[in-house]
Amino acid sequence: MTGTVYLVGAGPGAPDLLTLRAARLLAAADIVFHDALVHPDTLALAERAEKIAVGKRCGKHSTAQKFINKRLVDAARGHSIVVRLKGGDPMLFGRAQEEIAALEAAGVRYEVVPGVTAALAAAAELGTSLTQRGVARSVAFATPRVAEGEPPSTWVQSIAAADAGAIYMGAGQAAEIAEALIAAGKPPTTPVAIVESASLESRRVFTTLALLPRLASQFSGPAVILIGPQYRARAQSVLNSAMEEDSAPTPRRRAISNTD
Ligand code: SAH
Repeated sequence: MTGTVYLVGAGPGAPDLLTLRAARLLAAADIVFHDALVHPDTLALAERAEKIAVGKRCGKHSTAQKFINKRLVDAARGHSIVVRLKGGDPMLFGRAQEEIAALEAAGVRYEVVPGVTAALAAAAELGTSLTQRGVARSVAFATPRVAEGEPPSTWVQSIAAADAGAIYMGAGQAAEIAEALIAAGKPPTTPVAIVESASLESRRVFTTLALLPRLASQFSGPAVILIGPQYRARAQSVLNSAMEEDSAPTPRRRAISNTD
């Protein structure tokens, strides 16, 4: 008997942002392989399943991807419902393709169940749409993270070319990100919003590309960096109040121009 492996999106964190399909599969699962960031209440839905953490948390110990692939194939040989539970949506920066390739090569059936991805949860949190008529008609999803041996990434050009950008796995490299985007032609005054732990005890910070490096060390949880003109008003008001506190003797400069 070979079972089916379900690659299931766990959403951004809050258990009630899970899809009904995901909840049903968790309840029926025989075995669940889950990421480190999955909420305990979400895991608790898998009442009868053996639960195995194969979590990846940047900088911390993680199970090698090849080993996860093999475990999924092996699990399908002994169980009928195998759930691979991934943060957000499995098909965005989730290494789903490597798992799918391994399952296909082994002749194991699989299905993918979408989840709410971090950038959309962050947009909800901010109450600011990722797209807006006349303001942002394109959004690039990108990450500066590249694995060893991977070809060079075009993330800088994609974010620079799009009206708005959502940068995943980047909070720890905020200084490098700002520098690269400014070098690629993004104005230093480009508004930035950072949302940490969207859908949970979230934190939001507004700034500009030029000032982003100052915030680099502030984020220890998962955070998404959103870039775009739709954050201008809030970034502007934060910068204005910061400048009032500075009460510099030099004339006040506008921190964000209305023309970039
Ligand atoms: N597949 C996931 C992304 C995995 S990569 C998804 O669709 O969301 C991991 C990165 O996602 C983190 O480094 C962070 O940039 C982002 N992320 C995940 N959960 C988040 C959350 N609750 N709030 C903000 N960013 C989050």
